[in-house]
Amino acid sequence: MNICPVCGYPDLNEPAYDGTPGLHPGSLEICTCCGFQFGFHDDDRHITFEQWRNQWIAGGMHWDSGDSEPPPDWDPKKQLLNIDIMLP
Ligand SMILES: [Zn+2]
Repeated sequence: MNICPVCGYPDLNEPAYDGTPGLHPGSLEICTCCGFQFGFHDDDRHITFEQWRNQWIAGGMHWDSGDSEPPPDWDPKKQLLNIDIMLP
């Protein structure tokens, strides 16, 4: 599973970041779920996972900003448990 570190989406096409110690190259993949682009929004825009996540949660946890249909059994709260975020 390649889990999005922002929203916990577990089906990224590739790991969000290369695991090489000392390096932090993002895949530049855009998470289909929350829209975060690894290596761009953090490295270039200096937005943290937490900032993006909080914004996504505050905005109603929309899949793909509402641009496409989520998977049929998609549950954003359950998905966040993948990264140990538990919402009330
Ligand atoms: Zn995501």
